[in-house]
Amino acid sequence: MPNSKPYRILLYYKYVHIEDPRQYAEDHLRFCKELGLRGRILIAEEGINGTVSGTTEQTDIYMRAMHGDPRFQDMVFKVDEADGHAFKRLSVKPKRELVTLRLEEDVDPNKLSGKRLSPKEFYEHLQRDDVVVIDARNDYEYDIGHFRGAIKPEVRTFREYPEWARKNLSQYKDKKVIMYCTGGIRCEKLSGFFLREGFKDVSQLDGGIVTYGKDPEVKGRLFDGKCYVFDERISVPINQVEHKVVGQCYYCGKPEERYVNCANPECHFHHICCHECEEKYKRSCSEKCRNHPLNRYKLEKETIHA
Ligand SMILES: [Zn+2]
Ligand SMILES: [Zn+2]
Repeated sequence: MPNSKPYRILLYYKYVHIEDPRQYAEDHLRFCKELGLRGRILIAEEGINGTVSGTTEQTDIYMRAMHGDPRFQDMVFKVDEADGHAFKRLSVKPKRELVTLRLEEDVDPNKLSGKRLSPKEFYEHLQRDDVVVIDARNDYEYDIGHFRGAIKPEVRTFREYPEWARKNLSQYKDKKVIMYCTGGIRCEKLSGFFLREGFKDVSQLDGGIVTYGKDPEVKGRLFDGKCYVFDERISVPINQVEHKVVGQCYYCGKPEERYVNCANPECHFHHICCHECEEKYKRSCSEKCRNHPLNRYKLEKETIHA
């Protein structure tokens, strides 16, 4: 496929042992900075998880360099074309976990993880009526787009997930369970956790929603809405056959796909909001937030009118 846009956004991860995450993060930051990449990369003893943007040339060099490292030689890069950077800056940080689950006993996805389903297999499973589909992301990600019929997790952060799952999903332990997340990294661990909790038949969408959306045969079918992503694009299209808006304005409930953060800098609540309601409610999720002395919406308006 010829490149039509000058930039790329890469999404990648690999669960593999990294000896000294702190030192590696330092070296990696220097390397990415010199290269001119932007984005967010996490380094832990259990591996690497990154999403970066750069020119075609920069990202080519980066992928080649990573594949030259025996630890990452088979790492899969999900590649999107873009008109420019998708991040304002670069951050490379050592972390305790790649995805924050904080389990009492950690799961090593290289030892315990659900079966992997290709996009085509996943699509076939979606159409069976003996399959339970579970979204392995946060509630605000589900809200703007998800697989048809999937169970919505009532969690704001991933570390709330295990407790929520224990309370709300245990009735599916004997069922055939399939799960999915954005790029696959969360499912690798979460499916292992499910197996350890006694779920008998757990599968995961290999490569996540973004890979599913690129499959030339499946064409993103049965995914409704858009896929939430953690860069400046906020969301990307997946279903190439039909676009059904599932997001709703937090205030008036009408179909909407734009996200805003509450203008109260101490609240920052991330929610879907239409243009009219943004003005009407001053981009504030509550009366209290609206009246906050540092409310950003009000400060912006005052600056404009001054
Ligand atoms: Zn509205
Ligand atoms: Zn608020």
